[in-house]
Amino acid sequence: MSKPIDFTQLAAPGVRGLSPYQPGKPVTELQRELGLSRIVKLASNENPLGPSPLAQAALQNAAPDLAEYPDGNGHALKQAIAALHGVEMNQVTLGNGSNDILELLARTFLTPEHTAVFSEHAFAVYPLATQAAGGQMRVAKAKHYGHDLDAMLALVDEKTRLVFIANPNNPTGHWLSQQEIAKFLAAVPKTTLVVIDEAYFEYVDEPDYPDATEWLNDYPNVVVTRTFSKIYGLAALRIGYGLSSAPVADLLNRVRQPFNCNAYAQAAAVAALADAEHVQHSRQVNQQGLLQWQQALDDLQLNWLPSVGNFIAFDVDQAEQPVFDALLREGVIMRSIGNYGMPGFIRVTVGSEEQNAFAIAALGRVLKR
Ligand SMILES: *Cc1c(COP(=O)(O)O)cnc(C)c1O
Repeated sequence: MSKPIDFTQLAAPGVRGLSPYQPGKPVTELQRELGLSRIVKLASNENPLGPSPLAQAALQNAAPDLAEYPDGNGHALKQAIAALHGVEMNQVTLGNGSNDILELLARTFLTPEHTAVFSEHAFAVYPLATQAAGGQMRVAKAKHYGHDLDAMLALVDEKTRLVFIANPNNPTGHWLSQQEIAKFLAAVPKTTLVVIDEAYFEYVDEPDYPDATEWLNDYPNVVVTRTFSKIYGLAALRIGYGLSSAPVADLLNRVRQPFNCNAYAQAAAVAALADAEHVQHSRQVNQQGLLQWQQALDDLQLNWLPSVGNFIAFDVDQAEQPVFDALLREGVIMRSIGNYGMPGFIRVTVGSEEQNAFAIAALGRVLKR
């Protein structure tokens, strides 16, 4: 009998060392396992209000011919995005989620000779995309769990093609000010693309939190990513976008799958952009929910990291996995983030007031506090 083939040895070197992205546990999975009557999922930073009614109506009314490919150029959505940001349509790249844009960037610009720089405790997709594309990783130490831009700059050299900055960062909720990023951009070589991931942009209300799209004119090496998965409440449809200089968008467009964004996602996203009120309301609900969680975590005498996103990370002061598992048995799905180099930490998404109360009560029971 011949020896079984070791396909791992056949995989590209970067892929061999990868561990897959760990998604939040789906409600249906926990229901199957435990048969609980009530399950609250606060694991994936989804909007508890769901999408805008306008987006829901657009989905109902969207009657694409299912046999036909979607608009591969995403004309209507690119037009709406370009108008929103005051950029040209040829600066917009649509993605199957903004993850898709991060991956396109890695595949377009990284080779085994080139590096991507990012921070420890940053979004898990940066190392995944870098390694899968065969690039080298340079991981900067964080400062108080936040990005340390000086430490990141120190890792940038002529071989650095990409820097990933999450502002705010997931899972820490930490954010960088206008001045901090401006100083970094002025110091980075023009041949290094600086990717500013603004997945939670619409949630942030701090006065000196920057809108990175304003740097696009002065810095052709800046790429900004946004998503419809978070405040717009359309995570199921997988739609996001990148804004960049036109030459960078042209390169991403060469690598992109021809029909990476489906017809329903495009229709719903166009409608979602037209509902500023829903965004505003979602932001308000989140701000109240953040206060509710901060107060509750204080009451439980747990340390938490200040967050401007729709989630908050806290230190359970013991191994996090047993706490996470005990919460599952209470019908609450959070996210343990020990695998982000943060042992003892759990991240919870800010839900509705009532979902938060349910989860807070469960946490109190589990921790016996
Ligand atoms: C959720 C998230 C994204 C994007 O998710 P998509 O659903 O692929 O758009 C990107 N960056 C960060 C930091 C996130 O938390």
